[in-house]
Amino acid sequence: MNGIFQSKHFKLEKLRANVYAAIAKEGGGAAANAGFVDLGEKVIVFDTFNTQQASQDLKHLAESITNHPVTWVINSHWHGDHIRGNQTFKDRIIISSESTYTKMKDIYPSRIAAQKNDIDGLTNYIQSLKDHFIQNTETQLQYQINFLSELKSSLPTLELSLPNQTFIDEITFHGQKQSATLFTLGGGHSLCDAMLYIPDEKVIFMGDLLFVNCHPTFFEETDLAHWINILKKVDFMEFDVAVPGHGSAGTKEDILKVIHYISDLTALVREGHPIEEIKIPAKYSNWGSSEVFQQNIKIVEALLNKGTSIM
Ligand SMILES: [Zn+2]
Repeated sequence: MNGIFQSKHFKLEKLRANVYAAIAKEGGGAAANAGFVDLGEKVIVFDTFNTQQASQDLKHLAESITNHPVTWVINSHWHGDHIRGNQTFKDRIIISSESTYTKMKDIYPSRIAAQKNDIDGLTNYIQSLKDHFIQNTETQLQYQINFLSELKSSLPTLELSLPNQTFIDEITFHGQKQSATLFTLGGGHSLCDAMLYIPDEKVIFMGDLLFVNCHPTFFEETDLAHWINILKKVDFMEFDVAVPGHGSAGTKEDILKVIHYISDLTALVREGHPIEEIKIPAKYSNWGSSEVFQQNIKIVEALLNKGTSIM
């Protein structure tokens, strides 16, 4: 897109005439993907990144490209890298599921207050990383330093902006040209994950239910069995492009890869080797975010130990 403003936080990709994905750049203030859809006079933004610097760029691009103000802003789930940029849109309609809203309201006031009170601690931590940094040899460390520096510069002016509208199962938005449906099938990656489906364009925004060519992140709240169920249901829907929470835009094939990843890790843990000896399988050796693999294995083990059935 020549001539259009370029953000240092994300790469804007035109997926369809009216659908754009904003793919996070490593080490920027975005940290997760977002996007926007022009329904005709009405514009939807899907997720707001990890910082307000990144979401300001998104708002600028969404409004200058569509020539309309953003009407609706979606939070796919409660994780910070999808919602911390909300304040850029605080005078718009910000929508999440009821459970995501409740979780945000419980967690964020104290978390953000604590982070604002410890900017010095973050500064010292960034400095300690810089002290370990050897020029041109440690790209990942440089990304981490840049990511934390963006987070630090967001903190002094960061305001918590909670969603001001909620939905239970689904809500449909209508514009002059087309409609889009925001829906949730419950929690897989997080306690509640929402997706945005644009049937006329055959595009779906999947938040962190989909990671493309990078390790999906599992947490204690993650429900792996239900995650697989959700992905299998989504696979029946009609679309050609699936925008993930992390990684580049994908297809149904990438959805199947996440299902296989969950089942492969479960099978590996079931073999019973000490978990610290479990190595990344060769088919995932090129995937990004390999640092989360060990944590994922631990989460799978904890679930199996609790007697939870995953597959
Ligand atoms: Zn997440």
